[in-house]
Amino acid sequence: MPLIELQAVEKSYKMGTQTLHVLKGVSLAINQGDYVAIVGPSGSGKSTLMHILGCLDIPAPGRYVLAGQDVSKLKEARLAPIRRQHIGFVFQSFNLLGTLNAQENVALPLLYQGVNGRRQRERAKDALSLVGLGDRLHHRPNQLSGGQQQRVAIARAIVADPPVILADEPTGNLDSQSGQDLLQIFSGLNQAGRTLVVITHDAEVARHAKRVIEIRDGRIVGDREVSHA
Ligand code: ADP
Repeated sequence: MPLIELQAVEKSYKMGTQTLHVLKGVSLAINQGDYVAIVGPSGSGKSTLMHILGCLDIPAPGRYVLAGQDVSKLKEARLAPIRRQHIGFVFQSFNLLGTLNAQENVALPLLYQGVNGRRQRERAKDALSLVGLGDRLHHRPNQLSGGQQQRVAIARAIVADPPVILADEPTGNLDSQSGQDLLQIFSGLNQAGRTLVVITHDAEVARHAKRVIEIRDGRIVGDREVSHA
């Protein structure tokens, strides 16, 4: 059974009297352990698709089955806990809380799950060590470089052990060396069995994935395995 399955997903936005069809029947399946890059030109519907994959929005019409559960028609109150349990997000702009240090930022998903304070700190420290920031636990975001902030965001995404890591233009705000470091971390996470879905403009990011899905004008126009020979 695929971890992620979209069937004939559509999405439209009403703009005054006009309807803008953004996703026009997207079907795809992603298995556990896959590493998928979703690429396509600006305006092709990538962010809209990412919102659906991340349970931030629902398809209409269409079907989304995540880890065996049909989430297509759930209201936000039921969708939010599913999102927290299943998806670790990494955003282009890091989205860290400026008043919290690295360890506290990383611990947030555990706080929502009711994990006790001591275990939160231990697991946040382990996740930060995994991304090479075991010596930056008490730094706040403005005391870290962009690449380090993105690594904190990755630690936050993995700390609660969600089955899917969903990243939206994760290298968009990084210099090339930090981008390379991030790709190394992603490859390591995937080799450890995690499922990654990365939305990107960056050809280098797509080259590191195992599979590239290309979207154009709201439709999938390509789906290929990447050879790493
Ligand atoms: P991409 O991420 O590939 O650049 P998006 O999914 O952001 O594409 O956008 C696809 C199209 O949908 C664009 O033409 C955009 O203007 C439109 N769009 C996105 N979000 C909204 C919205 N909330 N309301 C109206 N139109 C939107």
